Amino acid sequence: MDPERLLDGLDPAQRRAVTATTHPLAILAGAGSGKTRVLTRRIAHRCLTGDADARHVLAVTFTRKAAAELDTRLRTFGLRDLPAAGTFHALAYAQLRTAWAGAGTTPPVLLDRKGRLLARILGNTTRVRPGELATEIEWARARLVAPDGYVDAVHRAGRLTAVDPERIADWYRRYEIDKRKRGIIDFDDLLARAADQIERDPSFAAAQRWRFRHLFVDEYQDVNPLQDRLLRAWLGDRRDLCVVGDANQAIYGWNGADAGFLLDFERHHPGAEVVELRDSYRSTPQVLAVAAAVLAAGRGPARPLVAHRGDGPLPVVVGYQSDGDEANGIARAVREHHGPGRPWSAQAVLVRTNAQGTVIEAAFRRAAIPYRVRGAHQFLDDPDVRDLLKRFGRLSEPLSTTLADLDASVARQRAELLGSAWDDDLDDDAPPPLARELPDTAAGRRLGAFEQVVRLGNELLVLEPAARTDALPGWLRTVLLDDGPGAADAVTIASFHAAKGLEWDVVHLAGVEAGYVPISHARSPEAKREEERLFYVAVTRASDVLRCSWAKTRTFGSDPVDRAPSPFLGWVRGTVTDLGRAEAAAPVPERAIDRSRAALAEPPEVEPDPAVLTAAVAASLRAWRAEQGRRAGVRPTVVLSDRALDAVARNRPRSSAALAEQPGLGPLARERHGARLLAIVAEHLGDDAGPPASTSVPAGR
Ligand code: ATP
Ligand code: MG
Repeated sequence: MDPERLLDGLDPAQRRAVTATTHPLAILAGAGSGKTRVLTRRIAHRCLTGDADARHVLAVTFTRKAAAELDTRLRTFGLRDLPAAGTFHALAYAQLRTAWAGAGTTPPVLLDRKGRLLARILGNTTRVRPGELATEIEWARARLVAPDGYVDAVHRAGRLTAVDPERIADWYRRYEIDKRKRGIIDFDDLLARAADQIERDPSFAAAQRWRFRHLFVDEYQDVNPLQDRLLRAWLGDRRDLCVVGDANQAIYGWNGADAGFLLDFERHHPGAEVVELRDSYRSTPQVLAVAAAVLAAGRGPARPLVAHRGDGPLPVVVGYQSDGDEANGIARAVREHHGPGRPWSAQAVLVRTNAQGTVIEAAFRRAAIPYRVRGAHQFLDDPDVRDLLKRFGRLSEPLSTTLADLDASVARQRAELLGSAWDDDLDDDAPPPLARELPDTAAGRRLGAFEQVVRLGNELLVLEPAARTDALPGWLRTVLLDDGPGAADAVTIASFHAAKGLEWDVVHLAGVEAGYVPISHARSPEAKREEERLFYVAVTRASDVLRCSWAKTRTFGSDPVDRAPSPFLGWVRGTVTDLGRAEAAAPVPERAIDRSRAALAEPPEVEPDPAVLTAAVAASLRAWRAEQGRRAGVRPTVVLSDRALDAVARNRPRSSAALAEQPGLGPLARERHGARLLAIVAEHLGDDAGPPASTSVPAGR
C-alpha cells in the first residue's frame, strides 16, 4: 500500500500526529477524536515508509478487546509482517515465558483470582471482604507500594479504607508471604517480575529491546506507576515511544492509575512533542453536548470538541417503576432500534456494576435478543474449555502444531455440523460452512468456544512463536482478564469501565440511579471526580442514540429497595432542554417512551389497533429475517417465505400448536425458527415472560 493513502480521510492535526518525526510523541485529545485511528495509522505509516520495522513494533493496550481491535485494524494496511499488540499483562507474561524457557526454569503457577487465598487470610474476624482487600493490594502494587509503605501511602493519597490501614498492611504482608511459600505469582507479579528482569539482566534487556524498538501505547491516561515502570524498562534509554490518551477519560485512579503520566508527558520525557486533536468524529452534536455538560460540571477541559457529525436524535431519559420494567423497556428499545443497516452489534447496554447486567440478560433472553457479556470467567468456566485446557496443561509439545491440529479438527466438525444442518435447504447460493454462524446448541457452543481457543492461541504464537502447549492455559487466563470472546452479531452488555475505547450507534445506559452513578462508595472528592469522568466515558460511547434509564425500585436479594434518579441525569436533562428542541423533535418511537421531563413515568399501556399491530409484527419479522439471511448469506425469503411471514404477523400465534397452523410454515422452518417467531410475536403482545411453552392459545386475539 502507498503510505500516502494512510493520510486520506484525516484532518490536518491528525495528519501531523501520524507523520510527526519527533520522539517521544504524545497525542492528546477528547473522546472520539480519532486517537486510536491515528495510532494505528502512525504505526502503519512508519512501517510502510521504512521508518520502522513491523517485526519490531510493540503496541500496548489495556484490554484484550482493544489489542484485538488494534490487530484487526493493522491487518487492513497490508503490512508484510504483523506488529505485536497486547495488554501489559499479556506482553509481560510472554516475556517471562521466554526468559523461563531460556533459563530452563519451571514457570510458577499463575494465580488468576486472589479471592480464595485472601479469604483464608481474612478468616471470619472481620467484615472486610476478600474483594475489598484485593482492591487495596492491587492499588498498592500499582503504586509500587510494599506492605511496609502502605499506611503512609494511604495517608498521602487521602485514600479512604474500610478499616484501619495498619490491619490492611498486615493482611497484605501475609498475602505476599503466602504466595512466596506456595510458589505462586499473581498478575501484578507478572509486571513487576518482567520489569525486574530487564533492570537486573543487561543481556536479557538487550535482547528484549532489540526485539521491540518502536513502542506505542493507547489509553495512556490509565497507566499506573507499575506499568510505567515496565514501559520504561522496555524503552531503556531510547526515545521511540508514542502514547495517546485523554485525561478526561482517566477512570482507573481507584486502581492506582495516574493521568499525570500523560498530562506531564513532557516533564517525564524531556524533548517530547505533544500534538492535540480538536475535532470529534464519533458522536452527534447532541451526544457531544451532553458530554460537554458532564465535563463542565466535573471541571473538565475549557475547550469543547468540535462536532463533525450531523444532527441526531435528542438523548432520552426514561424512568421505570422497577428494575424488571426497566430491563423489559430496554429490550423493547433495542428491538425498535434494530433493523436493516443496524445489526444487534451496533447497540450496547452499559451498566455501572457488573451485577446489574443479570436482569438485563434475562429480559434479552425472554425477548430473544442475542447478547454477549464482557467478562472472561464465563468462557474459562465452561466445562468443555476447562477440560481442553487441562489437557493442554499436561502436554509440552510445540503449541503451533497442537493448535494447527485443533484448528483442523474444529474446521472438520464445523463442516459436519453445518453441513448436516443446512443440507436440506437446497440452496445453491449458500456460502461454505466456514462463513456461517454456528447453531446455538451444545455442540455449536462447544465448537465456538474451541474456535476462540484457537484464535487466542494464535495471538500467543505471534508474540512467542516457540510457545509450548502448556503455556496456553496461563496465557488465556492472562489475556482474558479484561474481556471475553464475542458472538458475531449480538448486543453488548458491559460495564462503563469495559466500554472504554469502544463505540456503538445506540447506547443504553441502564440503572442511572443515585448509588450507582456515582457509585455509593465514591466518597472522596477525587473518587467523585472519577465517577464524573466515568459517566463521560459512558456517554461518549454513543455515535447516534443515547438513552439513559433508571428504576424507582430495584430488588437486591429478595427485597425491593427505593431508588432515586442519578444526580448526573440533571446534566442530561438540562442539556436536552437547552438544546432548545422540544420532545416533538425526537423520533417517533422514542417520543412514545421519552419521559425526560417527568420525574417518573411508565410506557403507556394502550390497546393497539390490530392493523397497526400486524404491521409492527411484520416489520419486526422482516428485520429479523433480513438479518438471518445476511448472516447465512442467503436471500431473506429462503429463511422464511413472504406467505409465512404475513400469516404469522396477521394471526400472531402464541404457542407452538398455533404456530403449526400457519400456512407456508413447514416443520423444518418451525423447528429452526419457531422459538424466535413466537418470541417476536410475544414481544409485540406485551407478553414479557415470553410465549407459553405448552398451552395452546387460538391464533390471533
Ligand atoms: P476514544 O477516546 O473513545 O478512545 P478515539 O479518540 O480513540 O476515541 P477513534 O476510536 O479513533 O477515537 O475514532 C472515533 C471514530 O471516529 C471512529 O469510528 C473513527 O473511525 C472515526 N474517525 C476518526 N477520525 C476520522 C476522520 N478524520 N474522518 C472520519 N472519521 C473519523
Ligand atoms: Mg481510542
